[in-house]
Amino acid sequence: MGYVFDPPARATLPVKGTSDVFPVHRVYCVGRNYAEHAIEMGHDPDKEPPFFFQKNPDNLLVGQDFPYPPASDDVHFEFEMVAALKGGGTDIAVDDALNHVFGYAVALDMTRRDLQGVAKDLRRPWEVGKAFEHSAPCSELVSAEEIGHPASGALRLDVNGERRQEGDLNQMIWKIPEMISYLSGLFTLVPGDIILTGTPSGVGAVARGDHVHGEIEGVGVLDLKVV
Ligand code: MN
Repeated sequence: MGYVFDPPARATLPVKGTSDVFPVHRVYCVGRNYAEHAIEMGHDPDKEPPFFFQKNPDNLLVGQDFPYPPASDDVHFEFEMVAALKGGGTDIAVDDALNHVFGYAVALDMTRRDLQGVAKDLRRPWEVGKAFEHSAPCSELVSAEEIGHPASGALRLDVNGERRQEGDLNQMIWKIPEMISYLSGLFTLVPGDIILTGTPSGVGAVARGDHVHGEIEGVGVLDLKVV
């Protein structure tokens, strides 16, 4: 038995300080996980729990500039920390969750906000707004062995040298262990799954030619141009 055609290459992320790569299985994203961002999107963070959507593994973009996508005039940045799993399972206890984390990275949840808005209005799914080509620019991973499990640390995103997003990991409504535990009640988590953990306030549009620079203290840096 053989494949009827060569299967596409598995998506991977580089691992800092090694020649190894991390094989990516699924890309989960959490919505509205910072109170100020929930408010700026018109929601009450005390009334609505965070929720999840997915991007495709091959939407990850590593070490390259971000090509402005088709079919949108309102493409937004959302700067987020990534947790990458080396273990998995179902119904993972909160206290056990961090044992399943390989490491962390920084990423952009790029969003075609106009298409997402139409989907929201029509109660349609979000894929066209969220899961398009190159929609998840991501840094290299740094292992938890190296940096531990950061529960605090400043997030900063600059566009063309101007500060646009600012927050701290300690402002997450759902902490990483709670997120992993909850997700594992909905899906079977496996090694290679990654989670984009939500964005602080200040999201906004990019244009071709913009220089985007984000960093999370103690975790990593992402630097690219919109082309
Ligand atoms: Mn997001």
